Amino acid sequence: MRLLDCNAPSAVRRMLTREQDRAARLTYLQRTGEIVLLVWLLDMISLVKQSHAAAALAANPAVQTSPSSPFGRRVASQVKYLGRFADDLASKGPKSLIPAPAARAKQYPAAAWGTYWAVKRAVAVNEGRAEERNALNVAEHCEECPALTAKGWVPIGSLPSIGARKCGSNCRCELQFR
Ligand SMILES: [Zn+2]
Repeated sequence: MRLLDCNAPSAVRRMLTREQDRAARLTYLQRTGEIVLLVWLLDMISLVKQSHAAAALAANPAVQTSPSSPFGRRVASQVKYLGRFADDLASKGPKSLIPAPAARAKQYPAAAWGTYWAVKRAVAVNEGRAEERNALNVAEHCEECPALTAKGWVPIGSLPSIGARKCGSNCRCELQFR
């Protein structure tokens, strides 16, 4: 296995799609009562940490992952949201809301796409790149992303981050730097 190949956006995308399927499956098992909520929460926390770490390391093998780093703070906020998700599942009781909770669970590993591009952008800034532009992938687009793409090259850091647009964690866009 060549490490370089695993760092390509398309490889990260495939990895995150697999993690989304795992998150949906775990949540389905929790809803049908096959795993208790605490086990679901611990498994989801590790899945989310792994997804974000894999995405960040693919973007930059030397990325800082300490709790005080941008990466660490991103993961901490995701874990906090997972706690709220667990509270919601507990209050709704078993066997309710299938498949909505599975769709909600898939958003967590999906959010690591934003982590990947945040780290890529930081690398580009460090390398002295001055401009960025948005690139659409094959997906359903919110109205924001095609408009951002139409702007062409703009100063680096001036486009809204991937994951922080109307499409949220569903965004499939990429950034290019020069
Ligand atoms: Zn988008």
